[in-house]
Amino acid sequence: MSSRVSRVRDRLLDLDADALLISSLPNIRWSCGFTGSNGLLLVGPESAHFVTDGRYTEQARAEVVGANVHIAEEGLSTFIAEESLLAPYSRIAFQADVVSVAKRDDLAETHDSVTWVPVTDALTKDIASKDSTEIDRIRAAQRITESVFEQILTAIEPGMTEREVAVEIVYRHLRRGADAMSFDPIVASGPNAARPHARPTDRTLRKGEMIVLDMGCFREGYASDMTRTVALGDPGKEARRGYEAVRKAQDAALTAARSGMTGQELDAVARDVLVEAGLDEYFSHGLGHGIGLQVHEWPRVSRTSDATLPEGACVTIEPGVYVPGEAYGVRIEDIIILRKDGSSTLTRALKTLKIL
Ligand code: ZN
Ligand code: ZN
Repeated sequence: MSSRVSRVRDRLLDLDADALLISSLPNIRWSCGFTGSNGLLLVGPESAHFVTDGRYTEQARAEVVGANVHIAEEGLSTFIAEESLLAPYSRIAFQADVVSVAKRDDLAETHDSVTWVPVTDALTKDIASKDSTEIDRIRAAQRITESVFEQILTAIEPGMTEREVAVEIVYRHLRRGADAMSFDPIVASGPNAARPHARPTDRTLRKGEMIVLDMGCFREGYASDMTRTVALGDPGKEARRGYEAVRKAQDAALTAARSGMTGQELDAVARDVLVEAGLDEYFSHGLGHGIGLQVHEWPRVSRTSDATLPEGACVTIEPGVYVPGEAYGVRIEDIIILRKDGSSTLTRALKTLKIL
């Protein structure tokens, strides 16, 4: 991959700092390409240094672009101190939303001549806008999830438990080339589906119920995330009505979505449709979230998000209703790419209510 270290460098002025110390692993991956599980990246105006431990000597040399690679024998911050890597700088920004208080105290102690500037969201806007390679990777992860979903539809039958379906979802993702799951799959049937973040249980799938299936994986670092709701036999009039309302709400949001809107504005488009259906009180979460190297990224698409949605951002659109009184839940989730004049939907799986 090409290095984005120069883009990090461009941020230094805004951050009012001489250098930025990046500790978030997904941010490190985005910036210099390192995919391992331990590292620090220090970016100054002239040079950049990446420090990791001995397990990653070969990997770091092969992957890291745009920074000098160092291998630390002790801790990473001890190495930085001993090698005087911070010496040229007096004000160094660090990621206050990632670094623990203990780590910050440690940095302050070992580098007492430095003014440490806490910053949050230092790179979030840059990271939100995806380039074509990143979009291809999200699409590749999404295609795996879609094919698993297709297979799962033929595997589901009354008598299986939610947990058994979840196991199939994980197994089939890994078989099809996923590097890992991007989150534990949700398989929620009947009354469990009325809880937005239900975990799979030993509950047996029964005829006449809705099943919410939410799943995603990582492929080459990038995440997929998709929800479909299916019915096992006829789920009844109310659940069908709920399904159609959620689908309409999602359609409205997909049609309206474009960069330049705020998260709030887009959320409201879907919410208004559910208001009309008298179901908005059951839509208890935000409409969506950014997705990329992490399954949940900035920007949020929610009632409280006044952030402007950037061009090229990949976000999910996932309205849902969870109706405990009627013992059903519905969520439908796609990934879209935001453009100035609209959006394109990356997810291909069909959305007509599938009755198994
Ligand atoms: Zn999801
Ligand atoms: Zn999601």
